[in-house]
Amino acid sequence: MWSLIEQFQSILHPPCLLCGSWHANMDNYCSACYQDLPHNTHCCIRCALPLSDSNSIDQYCGQCLRQPPEFNRSLAALYYLPPVSSLIHTFKDQDNQVAGRLLSACLSHYIVRRKLSLPELIIPMPLHHRRLQQRGFNQAAVIVQHLSKTLALTTTNKLVQRCANTPSQQGLNQRQRQANLRHAFRVQAPKSVMKLFGKIRHIAIVDDVMTTGASANALAKTIKQANPNNLYVEVWCLARTLPPHSKLHLY
Ligand SMILES: [Zn+2]
Ligand SMILES: [Zn+2]
Repeated sequence: MWSLIEQFQSILHPPCLLCGSWHANMDNYCSACYQDLPHNTHCCIRCALPLSDSNSIDQYCGQCLRQPPEFNRSLAALYYLPPVSSLIHTFKDQDNQVAGRLLSACLSHYIVRRKLSLPELIIPMPLHHRRLQQRGFNQAAVIVQHLSKTLALTTTNKLVQRCANTPSQQGLNQRQRQANLRHAFRVQAPKSVMKLFGKIRHIAIVDDVMTTGASANALAKTIKQANPNNLYVEVWCLARTLPPHSKLHLY
């Protein structure tokens, strides 16, 4: 049972969600656990997959050089490895908003550290209304709320709809995923949102995890086609799934 002191501490300052230590910050992690997270340190500018040559900066992976995706840049703070994968699972599937806040804080620190020009608008990866009903919340919209507050960015969740309730992308290869998503999104918004969208040149799509990037690619294509300004599209996500034979799996 918790002592009175511990109960008092938990009100003033929450414990670290990962190790239970009382030396945690207001986003519920301690510095030791933060250091131990699988941070995405050196990666392709475009798709955020790790690059093997750690001496170089500003690089693209071979796949993005051969066949660039529709989005121009990706920022993924962490790799989808333990304990990040279980934190994302508790956030998404068990509605653990503390885990969501911790992960969103990691992403906002990552964005600030990169010192890049920030987008004029950030939008969550939309969920189909049926999926939204099942889950009760859109995890990407929760991350967007956190980022718009900490980075002072404009946001809307009314710009794009997910019009097709695509089946789970799990177990599908890249081509099957793309076919699955061909008509998945539609830009349709109230006049005020469309007016704002018509003026911007730089936007970020926010999602929890980027696996193959097929959803982000389809959404980037849809919003680029609907905007007259040669839009620069970024993808911001909490974590990047590594390819099956990545060496990083050994850690
Ligand atoms: Zn800790
Ligand atoms: Zn790449």
